[in-house]
Amino acid sequence: MLSAVVVGGSLAGLLAGNVFKSQGYTVCILERSMPATLQSEAAGIRVGSEVLRFLETYVEDYARDFAKRTEEVNVVDQRGNVVTKCYPPEAMNLTTWKALYEILKNVLLHNSDNVRYETGKSVQGIEYTGDSVTVIYQDVESGIVERIDADLVVGADGLNSIVRRLVYEEHDTSKYSGYVTWRGRVPKTRLSRKTFDALHWQVPVFRTGSGYIISYHVPGDPARDAFKSQPCDDFVWVWYDAVPEASAEFASIMTDDAGVLHRSTVPRGKVDPRIWHRQLTEKRPNAFQNPHFIELLEKTEQPFISAIRSYAGSKAVFCDGKILLIGNALATPKPNAAMATGQAAYQALKLGRVLSGDLDLDHWEKECVEYAMRARSLTDSMEEFYVTGRVPDTLRSFVTPPRRSNI
Ligand SMILES: Cc1cc2nc3c(=O)[nH]c(=O)nc-3n(C[C@H](O)[C@H](O)[C@H](O)COP(=O)(O)OP(=O)(O)OC[C@H]3O[C@@H](n4cnc5c(N)ncnc54)[C@H](O)[C@@H]3O)c2cc1C
Repeated sequence: MLSAVVVGGSLAGLLAGNVFKSQGYTVCILERSMPATLQSEAAGIRVGSEVLRFLETYVEDYARDFAKRTEEVNVVDQRGNVVTKCYPPEAMNLTTWKALYEILKNVLLHNSDNVRYETGKSVQGIEYTGDSVTVIYQDVESGIVERIDADLVVGADGLNSIVRRLVYEEHDTSKYSGYVTWRGRVPKTRLSRKTFDALHWQVPVFRTGSGYIISYHVPGDPARDAFKSQPCDDFVWVWYDAVPEASAEFASIMTDDAGVLHRSTVPRGKVDPRIWHRQLTEKRPNAFQNPHFIELLEKTEQPFISAIRSYAGSKAVFCDGKILLIGNALATPKPNAAMATGQAAYQALKLGRVLSGDLDLDHWEKECVEYAMRARSLTDSMEEFYVTGRVPDTLRSFVTPPRRSNI
């Protein structure tokens, strides 16, 4: 029986793990974070056609209402009136990272004598002998170092992939996009009727002058609402705010309540309350007066912060095809067009074709890299449209002309 070790147990790792399982591999997924940490950054994600195709192919039996469908992205003004409509090329199915993670993990571990999903295992090294690959990893609690051999190793370990660093000396490092995002989540029941009416069944965007704020209507968390007859929907919001990396403001935002400076994310529960207060009372009034977004911010209990970085990867196959990169480890688009999960699903679907002998690895790599370039281009266009209001040629047929500016 062939064996695969997948480094990273987020969405790309679970997608790849399911593909290997369906092809009869023994699968071991090694995830560095502990389960509680994995939940702490979860907010909203877009489920594109590739993810739906993956679920139909590999999962079949899943609750179809795990995502909410929205057709329109609407640019709104200070009072919430729609000034520009954008109809994305495909309808937006919106859900949470956690909902998709649970679906993929449950199906992976169902009837799974040959599958292991281990958390708290940090991969530190890889040895390649020509025949097989050995992955060296450490238990984050006990410090014990272990080794595991595999026929194939997949690096699904995200933007700062250690697998990529170990096998690809010339790899470019990630780039800071110039934006910090603040994110939060508010249950529907905490919102006023007016704000609920303004936000639901659409994706509203407000241009702030130094970025934008956007909100998504997503299904609630069944675990949180287990005692209720029906889980309560949530609204998640993301505020993109331009902050230069080499600035005192950046350093203060990315420093948590215990004084630790983070490079990428200040997790939920760790944001310094004084910094959040400053964002609400000093930056927000200059950025927007839209009452619906103000209400979302003010009713958010635990916001979290990410410095937006991207990585333009162009290589996915290493060591004679024994080591592959997938998901954000291969290429990380900025989140403006919410393409990362669709990209990972596309790569996983194509990996299924490689394992069943329909596609060779050279073509798999080429198609994955081309998809990443398309994702990057669409993301840049969406960012330009959301931030400046200019409509790049690639979006012209999806955007109705603005009636007036809201800046
Ligand atoms: C906890 C979590 C919550 C998220 N929530 C959202 C969200 O709400 N909205 C959104 O748009 N995107 C979210 N993302 C990002 C989203 O999953 C990705 O952009 C996209 O789905 C591609 O996923 P990925 O698996 O390639 O990368 P990532 O999701 O970044 O996952 C990489 C995984 O590799 C693990 N890892 C890294 N180094 C090692 C190592 N040395 N050993 C073992 N494991 C390692 C990380 O802990 C991580 O779980 C989240 C990611 C995580 C990890």
